[in-house]
Amino acid sequence: MAIKEYDVFVIGAGTAGKNVAYDCAADGMKVAIADNREFGGTCAQRGCDPKKVLVGITKAMQLSENLKGKGIVSVPKIDWAALQKFKSTFTYAVPAATERDLKKAGIELYHQSPKFLDENTLLVEGKTVKAKKIVIATGQKPMALKIPGREYLKVSDDFFELEDLPESIVFVGAGYIGMEFAHIAARCGSKVTIVEFGDRPLDPFEADIVSHLTKASEDLGLKFIFNARVSKVEKLQKNYRISFEKNGITDSIDARMVFNTAGRVPSIDELDLEMGNVAFEKNGISVNEFLQNTTNKNVYACGDVSASGALPLTPTSSQEARIVSMNIRKGNQTKMDFPPVPSVVFTIPQLASIGLTEEEAKKKGYDFVVEYKSVPHWYNAKSTNEGIYAYKTIVDKKRNIVLGAHIIASEAGEMINLFVLAMCGKLTTEAIKAMIFAYPTWGNDIKGMV
Ligand SMILES: Cc1cc2nc3c(=O)[nH]c(=O)nc-3n(C[C@H](O)[C@H](O)[C@H](O)COP(=O)(O)OP(=O)(O)OC[C@H]3O[C@@H](n4cnc5c(N)ncnc54)[C@H](O)[C@@H]3O)c2cc1C
Repeated sequence: MAIKEYDVFVIGAGTAGKNVAYDCAADGMKVAIADNREFGGTCAQRGCDPKKVLVGITKAMQLSENLKGKGIVSVPKIDWAALQKFKSTFTYAVPAATERDLKKAGIELYHQSPKFLDENTLLVEGKTVKAKKIVIATGQKPMALKIPGREYLKVSDDFFELEDLPESIVFVGAGYIGMEFAHIAARCGSKVTIVEFGDRPLDPFEADIVSHLTKASEDLGLKFIFNARVSKVEKLQKNYRISFEKNGITDSIDARMVFNTAGRVPSIDELDLEMGNVAFEKNGISVNEFLQNTTNKNVYACGDVSASGALPLTPTSSQEARIVSMNIRKGNQTKMDFPPVPSVVFTIPQLASIGLTEEEAKKKGYDFVVEYKSVPHWYNAKSTNEGIYAYKTIVDKKRNIVLGAHIIASEAGEMINLFVLAMCGKLTTEAIKAMIFAYPTWGNDIKGMV
């Protein structure tokens, strides 16, 4: 059989891969794309989007809880099965719609993991294919925990498929995925424990602001076991026993279900990268500033799987895809030069961050002013009886521009976008204060934060 030849072969049909494929096909290139799971990627099917549907319901509950006795008579009850069914209305159509749209754009589809045979050649579905450019956009997967009983650990994908919510759950790892799921599960009635290796949740986020979320989580009934390393999982009759080492002592906790939320690693094991002369590292495919592989110049990588240094998030994945498609279509001209990237933890309240933490600003030698305040008495929080509202801003002393902003509030995710504008536009604090925002909105509060 004749070997099929393409201008571009994309591996991974998530946010990053799809965008590169569409751009190159629209430019008249012959493009193929392969995925070894349902087409459409993590965000739309097993990540951001379905998560926000689950969070939405718990938000309604929490608001009622805040206003109980203040006009609300009783807090609504959750119907977990109906909630999952509602969530599925967003996810179930994604694979077919993705395949249909890709085909409509003239892109050929493969449904297996390709393996590199050499720098430009792949083996996929038993066929040998050649491509002038190969794009790796395979995302990340949960990091395997090498402990006895690891086969009993569930992962984030499983959370979205839970038909019933277990009475009790242990999450191993207090990163953003563990914290978000823990909040959903606890609000929906599960007894939740988080076992965390470090001494607090959400390690990369601003410690002072995280401390408010730790308290909010404990008030919700979450139990944290910090400085603990999970060493074993055993199956009992109804429960699982999760053993952990803390301060040199082995202890354990029983729960109906245990989730591995200890972090995610690049999805590269099946690609035979050595055969393709593709360099990789712990964080993924090694790339230069054009997102081109450092050893095989015909290969580019984008999205969560690239070791570009950008946060593994949906908007950064789209941005990296844009850079890769430009460089493939027009030659290496567009460099990775990212503005500050916001990130949001969709707990209740939300925790949102952009730019430098106080510690990072110190390490980088900036001369700065920090403002850290707890402000539950500000009107927006008071109007819905919210007990937690705090912020920390870091402002460059000489230039009077924002270096970092960290907020915990029910609408922190929306507020942080205003700091994106302020930071990308290099607005001075005077300029921000001189602007007129709608009142009474959470966005207006940023004037009081700088
Ligand atoms: C639970 C959860 C919640 C999240 N919440 C948010 C959020 O709120 N906001 C946010 O910005 N980001 C969030 N993310 C991260 C976001 O989902 C990712 O950053 C984004 O999906 C990355 O896009 P991508 O295209 O790089 O990878 P993916 O969307 O993961 O796509 C990679 C594709 O490659 C395929 N693939 C993998 N290996 C192979 C192989 N060997 N061969 C062929 N195909 C392969 C996969 O099946 C997948 O379809 C969340 C992630 C998770 C897991």
